[in-house]
Amino acid sequence: MALQRGQLERLIEQLEKIVGKGWVRYLDEDLLAYESDGLTFERAKPDLAIFPDGTEQVVEVVKLLNSVGMPFTPRGMGTGLSGGCLTPHGGAVISLVRMNRILDIDPYGRRALVEAGAINKRLSNAASKFGYTFAPDPSSESVCTIGGNVAENAAGLHTIKYGVTSNHVLAAEVVMPDGDVVWLGGDTRCEPGYDLIGLFVGNEGTFGIATKVLVKLTKLPQAYRTLLAQFRSPSDAAKAVSEIIASGILPAALEMIDHVALEAVVAAFKLELPSETKSILVVELDGFDVALDRQVDSVRSICIANGAIDVRAAKDELEREELWFARKKAFGSLGRLAPSYCTQDVVVPRSKIPEALERIYEIARRNGIRIANMFHAGDGNLHPCMLFDERSSEQVEAVMRASYEIMQMCIEMGGSITGEHGIGVEKRRFMNLMFSRDEIDVMRKVKLAFDQTGLCNPGKVLPNDGD
Ligand SMILES: Cc1cc2nc3c(=O)[nH]c(=O)nc-3n(C[C@H](O)[C@H](O)[C@H](O)COP(=O)(O)OP(=O)(O)OC[C@H]3O[C@@H](n4cnc5c(N)ncnc54)[C@H](O)[C@@H]3O)c2cc1C
Repeated sequence: MALQRGQLERLIEQLEKIVGKGWVRYLDEDLLAYESDGLTFERAKPDLAIFPDGTEQVVEVVKLLNSVGMPFTPRGMGTGLSGGCLTPHGGAVISLVRMNRILDIDPYGRRALVEAGAINKRLSNAASKFGYTFAPDPSSESVCTIGGNVAENAAGLHTIKYGVTSNHVLAAEVVMPDGDVVWLGGDTRCEPGYDLIGLFVGNEGTFGIATKVLVKLTKLPQAYRTLLAQFRSPSDAAKAVSEIIASGILPAALEMIDHVALEAVVAAFKLELPSETKSILVVELDGFDVALDRQVDSVRSICIANGAIDVRAAKDELEREELWFARKKAFGSLGRLAPSYCTQDVVVPRSKIPEALERIYEIARRNGIRIANMFHAGDGNLHPCMLFDERSSEQVEAVMRASYEIMQMCIEMGGSITGEHGIGVEKRRFMNLMFSRDEIDVMRKVKLAFDQTGLCNPGKVLPNDGD
């Protein structure tokens, strides 16, 4: 229910008393920044954006919004790729950006306590002084927040070996949708009773607002070897991926870039590659120095047996960093190929990557668009990037059709409609493709257990009844 102008003005005054003057945005031009996230297809302007600084302020804000029946949506840095922090039902965005402090780093206990708005990379940088890191490393790590990582159960380049965010979160302080404050989880992952922190990670902002997070830190490895293998086709590279894992080697990262994406990456990062290179694999091995050279030899042999033209190792830390910089910023380079792109996030069993890629190229041809692929091959987590022009409604429709076909293909292959970007507003109607009605009902009951009024981030994750 929308508030009348007078009621809204009164609400803004009360909110400003809680969070301070200037920390409530309500003008159209100020709210433009909050109408979208990394998925620029979907837009919904909130009525307000509120910037609390501290758990007590979040509690008061949530209680006040409850009293007027206004829905609210937590927001970190808005880098999400499924529209999770949008407000399709109107209401308020509660931004955590002021709550960005690293409260404690405990190298002996291998853990850190942070406010939920802390930036992922800042935590890793701070921990690195003690020889540790926060292992989840999404490509957006230099801007996204730990709260956003928890809400999306974010993954990253090193997930194949180190796991996803849920493997690294011990506990969280949460302001529940009614304003109560609870700690979910504990100092160890051996808490008795229901695994509520396990349930909370990946909730996409629909179970409450995380205000503090207690995370595990991971020891930085003694040494790395980072290899760049070039192939004549994406299919050869994909076969090498399956064989590397089947050989018993567990790389820290195994990333693949296909011929379409390579066009943009080579130009953007001035990489010098022979023209017959149509796909590259970046393989990172880490651990004790003495153990790595033998693994490098094995990976090199497997790549060459699968048709690699060349396999090179980064010669020093600088070259390794440059390689990862190019991979992490690679999505941005796609702007060289088309005015707009939309990244899908789907999963297939790793051994099916060659077949999945062929089918994706076929879907692209049939729908008259180009699709570039750069993805976490070690996890079978594909990121087909559909290249198009947002100003053409025909192209937008083609992208929608292609997205749907790709998701269906992944389910047929025993995979998933999302690997790490979540459901958000983007994929909620496709949940029925993956889950039975009974399974979705269980999810609805869990949501209700956390959020009885339905005011916390409505319109996300669960499908509508008619979908
Ligand atoms: C270029 C680029 C590369 C990316 N690479 C990766 C990648 O490699 N791996 C990956 O997993 N993702 C990736 N992402 C997606 C995105 O960065 C992650 O999902 C990230 O975790 C979102 O963090 P955020 O702070 O931006 O959250 P937002 O986008 O602000 O919010 C995301 C969701 O979290 C909820 N939320 C945010 N903060 C809180 C909180 N404190 N309490 C409760 N709910 C909250 C929101 O309501 C929303 O549902 C990428 C995005 C971009 C743009």
